[in-house]
Formats: sequence, structure tokens, C-alpha cells
Amino acid sequence: MKILMMGPPGAGKGSQSAKVVEHYELPSISTGQMFRDAYNNNDPIGIEAMKYIKDGNLVSDDITNEIVRLRLSKNDTENSFLLDGYPRTVAQAAALDVMLDEMGTELDAVFNILSSNDVLFERMEQRRVCKSCDTTYHLKFKIPKIDGICDVCGGVLYQRPDDTLESVKRRLEIYETKTRPLLDYYEKKGILFHINGMQPFDNVYNDIELVLRDI
Ligand code: ADP
Ligand code: ADP
Ligand code: ZN
Repeated sequence: MKILMMGPPGAGKGSQSAKVVEHYELPSISTGQMFRDAYNNNDPIGIEAMKYIKDGNLVSDDITNEIVRLRLSKNDTENSFLLDGYPRTVAQAAALDVMLDEMGTELDAVFNILSSNDVLFERMEQRRVCKSCDTTYHLKFKIPKIDGICDVCGGVLYQRPDDTLESVKRRLEIYETKTRPLLDYYEKKGILFHINGMQPFDNVYNDIELVLRDI
């Protein structure tokens, strides 16, 4: 099973990916998380990437394609994987197609998680993330048991530096101009599924699961 989660920032890609990955035991490839991990480890790529990320801009296609290429070259992604937040530009989609071609495979399903901008702004304002394991919380809809502490690993929760109002506006703009055109690309391949992301967590997951059952 090779699937891709798309949708504007805050739509719930990460939250739903976590459930899918757990249920189907898939390796998860989240470029945003890989950049944050690299930054937290003081890796030069992470430090370079954070210059773009904090203002809501995209990291360059070259750097992004390269980290995905390296990840896909590992054995565990041979038969199945979930991509979260990659590709985000037409150039990245083309690069991914070359990588998949080389692996002799293709994507089975692309999920487009939809949400209104009002909901997206609210979600990113209330989002908190574990510094250690990247588990995501929401101050109203997914409240940690102990304030400021991750339920899963006991790590410290923080607000992402790119979840500021200015950065969120910029990310939504970039989504519209650079990422939305990819939906057409996958629609034409006949593998795009639209999911209403404004429902409660479990309902969104059920809709995804209904599609996955058939592929
Ligand atoms: P993305 O990866 O698309 O940016 P996240 O999965 O990080 O989105 O979700 C953004 C925020 O919204 C998080 O705080 C998350 O807990 C919350 N959230 C995600 N899905 C839902 C949902 N269906 N209902 C309520 N809150 C949600
Ligand atoms: P969200 O969907 O909430 O914006 P992500 O964790 O997917 O969160 O991405 C965070 C940031 O990391 C993006 O705003 C962007 O700066 C960078 N990033 C993630 N994926 C890509 C990508 N495929 N291409 C370029 N930049 C990326
Ligand atoms: Zn944690």
C-alpha cells in the first residue's frame, strides 16, 4: 500500500497519517517532521530548512526531493509507505514519479483532506506538538492529560514556530498557488479521494479507511 496525504496546513494530515500508519503498520515519510527532527538534532539541513519553515515558505525542491529519495532508498519502504506533506509542488510530483518509476511502483491512493480556512486558522493556533515524538495535540479537541506534557512519551509540548498568524497566512497562500495544482495531476491519474476533514477525528479516519479497504 503506497499512499499520499494531501491538504492545506492544519487540515489534519499528520493526525490522520498517524492513525493509518499505526493500523496498517506502514513506514511514514513526513517531510515536515523530517525537517523538524533534523533541526532539533542540529543537523545542517535542518538549520537551513528552518530559515524557510519559520516564515511559512517552502524548503527548496532540491533539498526536499533529496531527503525523500534517501528515505525511499531504504529497504522498509519497498512494499508500502505513507507520504505526508510531500509532494507539495509540481516539480516535486515529477521527481517523485521518477523515484517510483525506478522502484517499479506507483501510488495507490491520494487523499485530499478538505477544510475551510476558518477551521484551519483555529486549528493551527490551538495546535501543540511534542518536542520529542511529534505527537500532535489541540488545546480543545485533543487535550493532553497533563498540561504541556505529551501523553505518549512525557516530552514537552511546544507551539511550532511556523504556527504564527503571519506564517499560517503565507502557508495557505503557498498551498493555493503551488500545491493545489497537484490535485488535478492526481485526479487525472484516477487515484484522488476527497475527504471532509472538518468532521471529528474518528469520522475522518473512517472515511479514509473505507477507501483503503478497497485498494
Ligand atoms: P496538518 O498535518 O495537516 O497540518 P494536524 O494533523 O497537525 O494537521 O492537525 C492540525 C491541528 O488540528 C492539530 O492541533 C490537531 O490536533 C487538530 N485536528 C486535526 N484533525 C482534527 C479534527 N478532525 N477535529 C479537531 N481537531 C483536529
Ligand atoms: P503543515 O502541513 O501544517 O504546514 P508540515 O509539517 O507538513 O506542516 O510542514 C511544515 C513546513 O515544512 C512547511 O510549511 C514547509 O516549510 C516545510 N515542508 C514540509 N514539506 C515540504 C515539502 N514537500 N516541500 C517544501 N517544504 C516542505
Ligand atoms: Zn511525545
